[in-house]
Amino acid sequence: MTSEPKTCHSTSSSLGFSTRAIHVGSEPHLSASRGVTPALDLSTTYSQGKIGATQFEYSRSSNPTRLALERQLASLEGADVLLEKNLKEQGLEDEGPAALALSSGSASTALVVQGIVGSNGHIVSVADVYGGTSRFMTKVASILSGVTTTFVDMSYRDSESTGKGPRGGETDQERSAREDQEIVDRVEASITPETKLIWAETPTNPMLSLVPIRLLASIAQKKGIPLCIDNTFSSTYLTQPLLLGATVVVGSSTKYIGGHSDVIGGYVVTSDPALLSKFRFLQNAGGAVPSPHDCWLLIRSLKTLALRVRQHSINGLAVARFLHEVGVPSGLVRDVNYPGLNRGASETRSQRRERELAWSHLSPHAKKYFEQQGFSLDSGGGFPMGGMVSFHIKSPIDDKNQLQASESTDTSERFLEGLELFALAESLGGVESLAELPMKMTHAGVDPSQRSLLGIDAELVRLSVGIEDVDDLLADLERSLRAAVSSTSPRVRN
Ligand code: PLP
Repeated sequence: MTSEPKTCHSTSSSLGFSTRAIHVGSEPHLSASRGVTPALDLSTTYSQGKIGATQFEYSRSSNPTRLALERQLASLEGADVLLEKNLKEQGLEDEGPAALALSSGSASTALVVQGIVGSNGHIVSVADVYGGTSRFMTKVASILSGVTTTFVDMSYRDSESTGKGPRGGETDQERSAREDQEIVDRVEASITPETKLIWAETPTNPMLSLVPIRLLASIAQKKGIPLCIDNTFSSTYLTQPLLLGATVVVGSSTKYIGGHSDVIGGYVVTSDPALLSKFRFLQNAGGAVPSPHDCWLLIRSLKTLALRVRQHSINGLAVARFLHEVGVPSGLVRDVNYPGLNRGASETRSQRRERELAWSHLSPHAKKYFEQQGFSLDSGGGFPMGGMVSFHIKSPIDDKNQLQASESTDTSERFLEGLELFALAESLGGVESLAELPMKMTHAGVDPSQRSLLGIDAELVRLSVGIEDVDDLLADLERSLRAAVSSTSPRVRN
């Protein structure tokens, strides 16, 4: 005899992040076998018995394994509770989870741009956006649908060096308010009557610059324009943009969500019922669906997301601190980008503002965990905020001939090729550590003038810090840095 199904907690926000990661989508009473993990359902079609009487008809439109993943994602991004509230307020029927799983992060970006911007619309995008996203906006949506994009600096970076510096008599609080207003002014000045979407990514790739989500959400709300946040780098464990006011969240599941470098996937989450049904329609029409096997792997991966991202973050902070506290004074490293890094007395104002922003973007569960580990906003050295770190390696300079800066990647390539544990590879977010040279690899397609404006030069290295024993990672970095810098013959530059 089967017992009564236990209450389904799928929409309960009172359960913790990992409890939901493990149980939502995997409820045994929803499975024919009562398995504690969802079945891998490979069927492409379903016997209907009576026409239209079954939940599933054809696997491109919906599939049981994909549905389990979508319920899990919607719960983890905090979208299911918001959707339920919106459906109730609008008197609408529940048509499924607040998340869609797609075949890649890029397919998710394309779906959101097509669904929201349509034809001849305009996008206001963060300048330091993933290269594939700017490629889709400027080389695909522009040609196929007449979409235009304005790229805007949405960060606090460089407030000392770009005329955004202090004004006489201004208090610290007044200056912060002015800096916020300057971001609002830059974004609002780019909005036209045709603007249909505000797009941002935070932290950005590869400079790990922070974008103020709440501030953008307030502009989006005032102007009635949806705000989409690409949450790939933070992952839903560290930041939940819908809870900070975003309308839509997209992500590449290929990275932290999958976490083992063995699945290409993407997802879209929204609590807006109209957008959700538009996205579902477009996904079915375009067909960018993940395989059930990939969905099954992602369900499995999400169950350990919290554990993995906590360790990625703790290792990421240790690597950032090593580069800043050992690499910079030893003349091996010029500067380090890491959102939680506290540089103490040498911290600039914009670095402090970014660190404060990073702390304010931490989800309640991540903040609680890191506080339990003894971290706080002002911890000496900083607090954990993901596994992504980038830094400029310091090439030796010929002091006698301070001539033009070289575009040589000799030192950075020697460093990357000398690493033993960090694999020289693109991508990020897997359990294993990776290192790359954005200028020649992930960002080779970005316009060189835009690249140099952003600081992506021959010396910029990006690390995806894995969850190996951190002492081994630090030893690998130090050995390869010392070998690369000392064996590069001095070159001339400004
Ligand atoms: N968004 C960001 C921030 C990324 O870094 C990437 C890929 O690197 C994508 C989207 C695209 O994801 P995918 O490679 O799964 O298509």
